[in-house]
Amino acid sequence: MPRTPFRLKCDTIPYRKGFVEVVSQIHEGCVNLETFHIHVDTDLKGVAWLGELADSGVVGNCELELTFEEARQLAETLLAAIPASTELPSTVLCEECGSLYFSKASKLSSLCPECAHALYGDQNCPHQFSDGRCTVCYWDGSVSAFVRGQRGAAD
Ligand SMILES: [Zn+2]
Ligand SMILES: [Zn+2]
Repeated sequence: MPRTPFRLKCDTIPYRKGFVEVVSQIHEGCVNLETFHIHVDTDLKGVAWLGELADSGVVGNCELELTFEEARQLAETLLAAIPASTELPSTVLCEECGSLYFSKASKLSSLCPECAHALYGDQNCPHQFSDGRCTVCYWDGSVSAFVRGQRGAAD
């Protein structure tokens, strides 16, 4: 999972190029999103980030503060905008056990099928492990201390 500050160079389309930066909580409760518009004649090849550019390359910038909910909507929209044909099953991080899992494998937005089952009684995945991961839901077998404790108590 990328940590912030996250910086991205976009120069796939020569006349629409620039940089994106995401920083969490410059303002409390907000995600800062900043975009930099780079002049069409400025070559970004070999340039990783703004600091390596002459100032004249920056045509403009826009800095926004997104609420967490707005940031989530934006992230989901970006994921939804990726065509299915090139789409690898998207993975998300389980907030309980810390494992990645296929977002489609769980009805909950932040819990893997295993943890959703353990905590809320949701239907679990019929895990099939290969190379340390379930091939159905991508869970890696992690169990949080809390869930392990619950199981211990139930035994
Ligand atoms: Zn989990
Ligand atoms: Zn599974």
